[in-house]
Amino acid sequence: MMTTELKRTGLAGVEELYQRRGQRARELSEQGAKVIGYFCCYVPVEFFTALEMLPYRIQGGVNEPITEADAYLETIMCPFIRSAFDLALKNRYDFLDGLVVPHTCDTVQRIYDIWKYYRKPAYSHFINVPHMLQPSSYEFFKQELLTFRKSLEEFAGRKMTDEALTEAVRLHNENRALVRQLYDLRKPDPPLTSGVEILKTMVTGMGLPVLEYNELLRSVIREIRERGGGPGKKPARILIYGSVIDDISFIQLIEDSGANVVMDDLSTGLRGFWHDVEPTPDPLDGIVNRYLDKIYCPRTYRPQAETQEKDLDNRFGYVYKSAADFQVNGVILYVIRFCDTYELDAPDFKSYFQKKGFPVLYLEDDYSAGTLGQLKTRVQAFIEMIA
Ligand code: SF4
Repeated sequence: MMTTELKRTGLAGVEELYQRRGQRARELSEQGAKVIGYFCCYVPVEFFTALEMLPYRIQGGVNEPITEADAYLETIMCPFIRSAFDLALKNRYDFLDGLVVPHTCDTVQRIYDIWKYYRKPAYSHFINVPHMLQPSSYEFFKQELLTFRKSLEEFAGRKMTDEALTEAVRLHNENRALVRQLYDLRKPDPPLTSGVEILKTMVTGMGLPVLEYNELLRSVIREIRERGGGPGKKPARILIYGSVIDDISFIQLIEDSGANVVMDDLSTGLRGFWHDVEPTPDPLDGIVNRYLDKIYCPRTYRPQAETQEKDLDNRFGYVYKSAADFQVNGVILYVIRFCDTYELDAPDFKSYFQKKGFPVLYLEDDYSAGTLGQLKTRVQAFIEMIA
């Protein structure tokens, strides 16, 4: 396993890592580690850990105007993907040795070929993740992951043993449990930590080796418990549902408008941490089940239930349960413009939560700090309404 000295601990460590995103990956790359960039929650990060590589979740930059990518990509596509590719064109991801892309949505699928063609990573792989859950999907996905495993072994120049994979599963399950412990600190009213602190920690961890991330999480949890206090009581307790938020500015805006952001179901938030990989005799089976069936993103169609009510419960019941557990009194549905995946899901999500008695604010965003002012008025009006 990649064992390296962790120089940054606690919330000060998070702050430093957040402000200099990519810096730790760059340091490890300079020390000879192979760093592999990936998108979304569907890439089994356990594979990289088992081969002592560093998985690095690729992010965009809401504060950086898109100036290069528009020469290659249409402007009517996901601005998060355009932004991430723009950063790649500006050499911000020059520490990446490889790129792994799962078929989350068609936009992310297309960026795979474009990135490969123009950035020429030393290693690249595309994972075909079934969109439907039926018995054959599991066998198909297992074959896909076997192909991925083989190709990654060839790049690493060595085999991934089942023992190493089992140990990687253990470490990443520990990581998921620590993230859930961190989230539990938001349950009291007032919460012990802010949404801004949580997002900084989550975004930071996506670029660290799992051992370092686990140590960082332990130190952050300890510090928050010991310091007492926190962001203070505010009249609104908000849950955010959506895809990618990898910059604190939007969360900051909500918290500055008189609310505590106490829960999320975001691709860059808790979505990848709700469920562990179950230990199975062949560790790959647990990985297949967890990545295919236990990540609730609207890109996957689950078998329809007999009634619409039951169907909505199957899709969103876990978010509703967490909203109740965390005493939420308002829900923000945050969708990045041109994201068909979430736009198609939004009406069902909104009506489901409204029927459950929650006020819902549906926002479509350009993934740019420049449009925050437009969102501010709507967020403030929403918080005034529920407070
Ligand atoms: S935000 Fe939507 S369109 Fe963009 S990568 Fe995620 S799922 Fe795809």
